[in-house]
Amino acid sequence: MAKRKFKAESQKLLDMVINSIYSQREVFLRELISNASDAIDKIYYKALTDDSLTFDQSNYYIKLIPNKEKRTLTVIDTGIGMTKEELENNLGVIAKSGSHTFKSENEIKDGHDIIGQFGVGFYAAFMVADKVTVLTKSIDSEEGYKWVSQGSDGYTITPIERKEVGTEIILELKENEEEDNYDEFLEEYTLKRIVKKYSDFIRYPIKMDVTERKLKEGTEDEYEDVIEEQTLNTMVPIWKKNKNELTDEDYKNFYQEKRYGFDQPLRHIHINVDGTVRYNAILFIPEQAPFNYYSREYEKGLELYSNGVLIMEKCADLLPDYFSFVKGMVDSEDLSLNISREMLQHDRQLKIIAKNIHKKIKQQLLALLRDDREKYETFFKAFGQQIKYGVYSDFGQHKEDLQDLLLFYSSTEKKLVTLEEYVSRMPEDQKYIYYASGDSNERIEKLPQTEIVADKGYEILYFTDEIDEFAIKMLMQYKDKEFRSVSSGDLGIEADEKEEAKEETENHNELFKAMKEILGDKVKDVRASKRLKSHPVVLSADGEISLEMEKIINAMPDDQQIKADKVLEINVNHSIFKALEAAQGNDEDKLALYTNLLYNQALLIEGLPIEDPVAFTNDMCKVMV
Ligand code: ADP
Ligand code: MG
Repeated sequence: MAKRKFKAESQKLLDMVINSIYSQREVFLRELISNASDAIDKIYYKALTDDSLTFDQSNYYIKLIPNKEKRTLTVIDTGIGMTKEELENNLGVIAKSGSHTFKSENEIKDGHDIIGQFGVGFYAAFMVADKVTVLTKSIDSEEGYKWVSQGSDGYTITPIERKEVGTEIILELKENEEEDNYDEFLEEYTLKRIVKKYSDFIRYPIKMDVTERKLKEGTEDEYEDVIEEQTLNTMVPIWKKNKNELTDEDYKNFYQEKRYGFDQPLRHIHINVDGTVRYNAILFIPEQAPFNYYSREYEKGLELYSNGVLIMEKCADLLPDYFSFVKGMVDSEDLSLNISREMLQHDRQLKIIAKNIHKKIKQQLLALLRDDREKYETFFKAFGQQIKYGVYSDFGQHKEDLQDLLLFYSSTEKKLVTLEEYVSRMPEDQKYIYYASGDSNERIEKLPQTEIVADKGYEILYFTDEIDEFAIKMLMQYKDKEFRSVSSGDLGIEADEKEEAKEETENHNELFKAMKEILGDKVKDVRASKRLKSHPVVLSADGEISLEMEKIINAMPDDQQIKADKVLEINVNHSIFKALEAAQGNDEDKLALYTNLLYNQALLIEGLPIEDPVAFTNDMCKVMV
């Protein structure tokens, strides 16, 4: 019988599992038990939907058999079993389920994180065993099979005689080494402890023959060892337990057991509702965005159970898009087992549950913001963009719901602030909520447009995400305060300043007209600026389309190109203005040269592309020589 090789990826990961640090090696048992439980779920589900099968709860269990003489630990289940093809496909490849595949070796951190990070599942067995044998017979197969592997060199599959449907996994434990004692996995109390810790809520009994010292019958002081089969787990699913009985650790274990993410949950939400619609749910807000989160590949959804039986792995209808990062499960007694996806969409119960869940998530996020700002910022760094998309999407119909979850960097506080905090700090005379857009906080800080507003002592919110300005345009106002870009035509700062600028423009009308002529339709107007102090020029935009929006939309593939109505604003108090005045009427070439240079400078400051870089550098040279 030829040995087969593992698929390349699995091989690599397997090596790492085998050589990993063993601080978490006990989770191998969690993995095997969880697979066994899944296998029983499958047969259970099949029986429910197939009349020719009957499901007698008492026939289904998981059993652990430690054998000290042979140094083996066997895990038996009466689940659905595997066909030859399934053995080949399921145990020959690690983590085939998409999200579990790892992208590169660099991502594999410390060995002991592997389990958490990549969900190696079945392969975790090799953390404690150097030989693993799987005996199995599928419900769909006449024959049984034996799969044997001694680790990374490959595996063999041979047919065997086997009557019972189900799977038996025999681990031949590694030799003890100085620091690593594998014998502990043969001890009843260790196995009991591990099952309690990770697998207590498994719905099927996890049995083991346990030896207990008991008083010999008919005697007063003679003891004997009695072996009796015990069920090690309480079988109450964690979501049906009372919240007070559970610790953070329990929820974390559940998150990992369920493989909701390779990170740690930032917060959990446990819901028990016993109203018109009865349901239990455990939801998690993850700490990190999955690597494919901001891509089309990412699928949102919660696991959906009907009275303890998993009926759908990713029920998308339970989560709005803007909360698509939430992981977890919902179990309801009021849902039919055989409900189809199409029917689910219209299910009244499910709609009520979804609405309810939505409310809870929002409450919890607000609570997190209130009680643990640091954690909330971690959350917002990972998923804030999604919340902003939520404000923007569906024509802004969720904006009121989401506005208090937003954070933006503040020019005065030098940290992320909420809109509420911003508004509460606004001085009497401040009319608007000011914002400035740019690639980074550092760049925005240097924008000339921020000068006047900052000088007034007003706080400016920095928009560095592409979505920011779009979301804010949708929001329009917060607590009756309108948003205003520092680049906008009307800053609402002081009437006389505006008048002053207008006056200045009129005073120098001829010059501005000449400059406008030189620039043609590149700009809509050239004016005296009222927002500049130390900088000579700045671009602003008249109308709805801001410079930032022009940049973002034009960067998108195959969207229509748009153009903001640009206004070139000149600082009449700057010495460069004198040079312009001097050139006007005297030296037309010089005026054209200066005007073009200033325009291009303004583009550069804005982070907009220069239309003709060669002409620009030639102009620079002309000034130098
Ligand atoms: P996962 O459980 O995340 O799919 P695993 O590596 O734990 O990944 O298991 C791989 C696959 O092997 C399972 O999806 C299942 O199809 C199969 N499998 C593992 N153990 C059993 C078992 N005891 N009975 C039936 N199938 C099993
Ligand atoms: Mg598994």
